[in-house]
Amino acid sequence: MSIHIQSKLPNVGTTIFTTMSALAAQHNAVNLGQGLPDYAMNQDLIALVSKAMNDNYNQYAPMAGWMPLRESIAEKVMFLYNTAVNPDTDITITPGGTYAIYSSLTTILQPGDEVIVFEPAYDSYVPNIEVNGAKAVLLPLTIPDFRIDWQLVKQNISPKTKAIIINTPHNPTGAVLQKNDIEELRNIVKGTNVFIISDEVYEHLIFDGIEHQSILRYPDLMERSFVCFSFGKVYHCTGWKLGYTIAPATLTKEFRKVHQFNCFSCFTPAQVALATFLKDKNSYLQLSPFLQEKRDYFIELMKDTRFNLKSSSGSYFITASYERISNKADADFAIRLTKEFGVATIPLSAFYQNSKDDKLLRFCFAKKNETLEAAVERLIRL
Ligand code: PMP
Ligand code: GLN
Repeated sequence: MSIHIQSKLPNVGTTIFTTMSALAAQHNAVNLGQGLPDYAMNQDLIALVSKAMNDNYNQYAPMAGWMPLRESIAEKVMFLYNTAVNPDTDITITPGGTYAIYSSLTTILQPGDEVIVFEPAYDSYVPNIEVNGAKAVLLPLTIPDFRIDWQLVKQNISPKTKAIIINTPHNPTGAVLQKNDIEELRNIVKGTNVFIISDEVYEHLIFDGIEHQSILRYPDLMERSFVCFSFGKVYHCTGWKLGYTIAPATLTKEFRKVHQFNCFSCFTPAQVALATFLKDKNSYLQLSPFLQEKRDYFIELMKDTRFNLKSSSGSYFITASYERISNKADADFAIRLTKEFGVATIPLSAFYQNSKDDKLLRFCFAKKNETLEAAVERLIRL
C-alpha cells in the first residue's frame, strides 16, 4: 500500500519556466523564455561577496537581515521615494521576491479570504493564495494595453476581500502603473481592511524616463502594504534568490513570525556585500538605461520578422503577437518555435488560470546582444 497524500495544490503542475527551459536545453534552442540574464553580473558586487566570505561573514545573519543592509535600503528608499522606513522594524531580508510575496500572503490570509489578482499574472500568486486556503478572484487586465479596469475592481470588492496584488513593472507584459492608477487604488481601499501586496521586483528596470509608482511613495497606502523586492532580478543575479519586504512595523511583526520559522535568515555574504554596494547610487541608477538599451536593440532586430511587438515600459520582458505567422494556440506555437526554429519563449496563456489564449508570446530581452541576434536570425525564417 502506498501512503495517500491529499494535495494542497491539486491543480498545479511544473511551472512553465521549468518546462520551457528544459525544452530549450533539449533542442539546443536560444532561450528567451525564463526571465534570467545570460550576461555577467556586476564584478564589483562579486568582489564584495568574495571579500565578505574571506572576512569570515559566513555565519547566520540576524533573522530580519543584516542591519547595515537594511540601513542601506532605508537610505535608498529615502533618496528615491522621499519616504522614511525604519530599518529595525519595517524591513525584512528574504530569500527572494517570490518568498517575500508568499510570506506576506501567509501572514494575512485566513481560509475563505479572497485576494484580487490581475491576469495575466506571475505564476506564483494563485498557488500562494490557495495553499493558504484562500481564493483568488481573477480579474483580466485590459487588452491591448494591459491596464487595470478599476471599475471592475470596485465591483469585485466584497466583505471577504483581504488583499489586492499589484505588480509594476509587470511580468509578463512590461506594463507599468501610472499615477492615476494609484489614485484609483487609494479610493478603493480607503476605509476598508484590504491589504496591498505590491510586487516591485522590477523596481529599477523601467524605461523611457517613466517614474516608478512605488507604493513606498504613498504613506496612506503604505499603512496597509507589503512591498516586495528582489535583488536577484535588479542586479542580474537571479540565482542569488535574495530580496526583501518593506511593511509598517505592526505588519512586519506578524510577517517575521512566519519568516522566522520558515527560513529564519538569508545568505550572509551577499547581504554584507549589498550593504556596501547600495551605498553607491550608480549601482541602481544605471540599471534602467542598461536594460532599456537591450529592449531597444531587440525591438530594432525584430523589425525584420513577422512578429508584432507590443510596447514594454519595464521588466525583462516584451510580448509579441504572431498572428501574421500562425493561428495555432500559443502553447503549441511556443513548442513548435522551440523544437523547429530553435527559440524558446513563454506563451502568455501560462499566466492565466484558464489558459486564455490571446496568441501572444513573451520574450526575455535581458540577454547578451549576440544572444538576441542569434534568436532573431532564427525568427526571421518564420
Ligand atoms: N515577481 C515577479 C513578477 C517576478 O517576475 C519574479 C521573478 N522571478 C519574482 C516575483 C520573484 O523574484 P525572485 O527570483 O527573487 O524570487
Ligand atoms: N520570474 C521569472 C520569469 O518570469 C522566472 C522565475 C522562475 O523561474 N520561477 O521568467
